[in-house]
Amino acid sequence: MGDLREMLHRVADLIADYRETLPDQHVAPSLGRAAVRESLARELPDGPASLASVVDELVSRAMPGLMASAGPRYFGFVIGGSPDAAVAADLLTVGWDQCAYNEALSPAALAFEDVAGTWLKELLGLPASASVGFTTGGQGANTVGLAAGRWKVLEQVGWDVGRDGLGGAPRVRVVAGAERHATIDRSLRLLGLGESAITEIPALANGAMDTDALQVVLRRQPDMPTIVSAQAGNVNTGACDDLNAVTSAAAEVGAWVHVDGAFGLWAAANPGTKHLVAGIGAADSWACDGHKWLNVPYDSGFAFCAHPDVHAIAMEYTASYLTGQVAGRMFGGGDFVPESSRRARGFATWAALLALGRFGVADLIERSCALARYAAMLLERLDDVEVVNEVVLNQILVRVGDAELTSSVEQLIQADGTCWLGATTWRGERLLRISVSNWSTTERDIELTVDAVGRARAEAVALRAEESTR
Ligand SMILES: *Cc1c(COP(=O)(O)O)cnc(C)c1O
Repeated sequence: MGDLREMLHRVADLIADYRETLPDQHVAPSLGRAAVRESLARELPDGPASLASVVDELVSRAMPGLMASAGPRYFGFVIGGSPDAAVAADLLTVGWDQCAYNEALSPAALAFEDVAGTWLKELLGLPASASVGFTTGGQGANTVGLAAGRWKVLEQVGWDVGRDGLGGAPRVRVVAGAERHATIDRSLRLLGLGESAITEIPALANGAMDTDALQVVLRRQPDMPTIVSAQAGNVNTGACDDLNAVTSAAAEVGAWVHVDGAFGLWAAANPGTKHLVAGIGAADSWACDGHKWLNVPYDSGFAFCAHPDVHAIAMEYTASYLTGQVAGRMFGGGDFVPESSRRARGFATWAALLALGRFGVADLIERSCALARYAAMLLERLDDVEVVNEVVLNQILVRVGDAELTSSVEQLIQADGTCWLGATTWRGERLLRISVSNWSTTERDIELTVDAVGRARAEAVALRAEESTR
């Protein structure tokens, strides 16, 4: 045990050193996957290795391949950092090594999920009676919400999908926006509904679902078992579907409404952005991430359902050796997610929420949005640079001249290392995509990033001129 104590102190120092220097690090790693693998590759030794040698090799080989995505100038995808309280809680979670399947395995893991879940529902404007499953992320939560919807809409037409599966079942229609997240399609494949179950609703100019078109589609086949998959937070533009319109159109025909709000659901926790998700509480299921905008360390997501009995029936199982599996029991843990043995994710979420408080969460969301607007304003002042979307949340789409120049800037900026941002193809056009999601990002970080975009653009223009004279 002496060895472990000493090693944990050392590891604590390594982690603290890493995190302290994050703001000054070259954001992209110095080595790629193949180079890191090469530096490690050898036969698995026959004999054991000492604790110190394992940790030494792990640290020295991994560090050059780490992306500083937890730092303040990482703007790729939608990636949060991890505030100190959540890091500490997650380290304890590893040390305690609890299995969060049920109360018999870890009363504390379940109780912290209960309380964190209650806080989450309050912050996100969801019904207090909704059930909560702690998932691996948005993909997991989308799968859970859609599974609950699949069960319910089939039950409404007299089909028990849990017992009889989908062979011979009435066809389920999933009505979703053209700019839904790709994880929705994967969830539908996994659930056996298939991509062809999707009836696609065109997007408005901002990327949100055209809810007039939704209403027409739903009314055309009012009796078909239907799930409407709506979105809060378009991954390119940040736009949110009009959830009041979605939920009232769905109510007319008794359709299930699932909301993919992996990051956008957090708009509800901030008075300044709450209006974007008005109507949120009237849906049937919701998916949200902890590891994106709440900045809980990976991995962390939440599946909420307005109908706990449906949620449980779609997910739970019982077995003779599981104690307390009787009617009227308290559901939780493994009953609301597809995993059985599972990490105790409630601790880190609880810690992040307690450390921030209600106002701290609102401030995190408000500040990210304000920094995104600040970035958009500064970017617009650069030559050749145009912000393409209306910056309603934390997402910014940027055109630099044309597609070729934009791609060239993307590569140059990633190599420069001041910041990291990626590109996307939105409506056929190659654009830079900036997502401001990290709790530690400051105005200064935005200024340094915009300067880096300006430098990369100048360099890209010079490179192009050089090539054309050759
Ligand atoms: C990120 C994202 C997802 C997937 O979430 P993961 O946590 O990566 O599984 C789903 N939908 C939207 C809108 C997202 O932004």
